[in-house]
Amino acid sequence: MESPKKTTGFVYHEDYLEHDTGHEHVERPDRLRACLQALSRSDFWDQLHHIEATPATLDQIYYVHDRAHVDRVKLHCQRAIPLDYDTPVSRESFDVALLAAGGVLRAIDQVIVGNVDNAFALIRPPGHHATPNRAMGFCLFNNVAIAARYLQSEHGLDRIGIVDWDVHHGNGTQDTFYADPSVFFFSIHQHPLYPGSGLANETGNKTALGTTLNCPVPAHSSINDYIRVFEEILAPKLVEFNPDFILISSGFDAHRLDPLSTIDITAEGFGDLTDILLSISDQICGGNVISILEGGYDLFGLSESVAEHVKRLISHNAL
Ligand SMILES: [Zn+2]
Repeated sequence: MESPKKTTGFVYHEDYLEHDTGHEHVERPDRLRACLQALSRSDFWDQLHHIEATPATLDQIYYVHDRAHVDRVKLHCQRAIPLDYDTPVSRESFDVALLAAGGVLRAIDQVIVGNVDNAFALIRPPGHHATPNRAMGFCLFNNVAIAARYLQSEHGLDRIGIVDWDVHHGNGTQDTFYADPSVFFFSIHQHPLYPGSGLANETGNKTALGTTLNCPVPAHSSINDYIRVFEEILAPKLVEFNPDFILISSGFDAHRLDPLSTIDITAEGFGDLTDILLSISDQICGGNVISILEGGYDLFGLSESVAEHVKRLISHNAL
């Protein structure tokens, strides 16, 4: 019997360019333009199922962030005052941040109803440094954390796995779930590097011991180092945790050209990590995976990595 045609969902909205981070900020609209250009020139562009982004509601943002944080972000955006030294905003940024989180939620809906098998959300601002009560590191709202809570609260799923391969530690995501045994959080990141957290001994507080897994790696680590961590450390823990859904915080700033790090990964390497995760997800959660853009600041390195990542998401469907 022929299986139904499978597809990969793709979230993008031109308003994501309206988060204006100022002249020469590395987290800039051109990042998405470069990715969009690489994807639209690929031979798999027509195979993507385009998903319309709509804004997350404030109640959905409150799944993760306290009201004081949301009010502060809104006020800073209204006045275009930076949230911290690294995190400038424009008047549009609050609405763009709601649309970024909401785009991820729409992708989730499409996977849950079975219209797509997996999805990639080409969004900004990124999210994984935003803690429940603080914006930092270019991040206003924690998109992946909101997605995990949405899966639990509005789709009734129990256990969520988050894999964060951005080159920086996902401190905001870790903080959100540090005492929550229903969400497994894994981060592989260069150390020492911003924000400085994510040591191997940070494994969850006593109510959730073992559901946070940090694998800091030194400068100049290679794809083989990453693959070893994924296969020997992450895979058994993720299988044991047995999530219903896997969310990827997919930053591509571990690319060898990235200006913010010194890790030696190519686009092909990100493709290989994608394959590893997809085969784990097949075993434990029926391939339910959504990948959410975080960092990645070299326009060529980012865009070729995103294209390879999305290509592997699509080609996995054909297996
Ligand atoms: Zn990063």
